[in-house]
Amino acid sequence: MKAILFYTHGGPEVLQYADFPMPEPGHGRVLVRLKAAALNRMDLLTRLGWPGLRLEYPHIPGADGAGEVAAVGEGVSQWKVGDRVVINSNLSCGRCEYCVAGMDNRCRTWQLLGETQRGTYAQYISLPEQNLFPIPEHISERSAAAAALVFQTAWHSLITRGGLRPGETVLIVGASGGVNTACIQVSKLAGGIVYVVGSSAEKLEYAESLGADFLIDRSKEQNWSRTIFELTGKRGVDVIVDNVGITFPQSFRAARKGGRILTVGNTGGAKFEIDNRYIFSKHLTIIGSSMANRKDFSTVMELIYTGKLTPVLDADFPLEKAALAQEYLAQGKQKGKITLSIA
Ligand SMILES: [Zn+2]
Repeated sequence: MKAILFYTHGGPEVLQYADFPMPEPGHGRVLVRLKAAALNRMDLLTRLGWPGLRLEYPHIPGADGAGEVAAVGEGVSQWKVGDRVVINSNLSCGRCEYCVAGMDNRCRTWQLLGETQRGTYAQYISLPEQNLFPIPEHISERSAAAAALVFQTAWHSLITRGGLRPGETVLIVGASGGVNTACIQVSKLAGGIVYVVGSSAEKLEYAESLGADFLIDRSKEQNWSRTIFELTGKRGVDVIVDNVGITFPQSFRAARKGGRILTVGNTGGAKFEIDNRYIFSKHLTIIGSSMANRKDFSTVMELIYTGKLTPVLDADFPLEKAALAQEYLAQGKQKGKITLSIA
């Protein structure tokens, strides 16, 4: 089969479009012929590498993908050849204390497809049968692949972990990026009132098109926590989605007393100083999460299929142009998901 491979960390030039042995379905596993993959920032981080990341080379990037069942291994009961499927990229053991409690995204041996295991930038992939979810006729592989990682992450953070309730105010720090834009849609669906802080008028216009109620341009208002404070009648907001990291000091100031700060990542840097006085004097709760459990995944995909949540698509590249697609993602100019078409 053809796949995108890399043998060493580095820039997009390390990606090669080359032949790789076809995977076997194996016991309890399904061979999927991929038709679409979607890019995530994680793909860039994995390619660049970080201390402690050990990959089996050649590595194949990609967490998101969709296609159809090409073969089933022994013991597979849920799938038959030709079924259209989308991938849930949480790889879990199914047996540890977290898995048996339905918290498979906290599995003791949890791995993310495409990060530490070979991923979806390929014509075929073999996966455990429980990592697949059906796609109905009216949904394209491209849309399903583009939705999977970002919407499950947004849902688990805001709803399952964050306990967002109708009428609550939500501040989303950052107007672009797949998870943040999914957070706008999930917050609106849950009945939230959404404030977005963005770096340009263009990005904020995009946030507004997705349902954001209040827009704050941080290129004009650097002290945006003060703006939030004033917009909310000196109360602050109930819930803050901060996946930037270095913006936490401003997020603390923008929160109401008893507010919750949600985080699933750090696009702006992982390490920063925290003024502890904000946390105790404002009774703040900081809630971290990563990806989603299997129940949240199926919930969110059904909401995609019924049109309650809509994946927003940007550019599509053929698989062999994955390096170009990653460069485009790195520029950060996209509005919506970047995808790969796999022939
Ligand atoms: Zn487990």
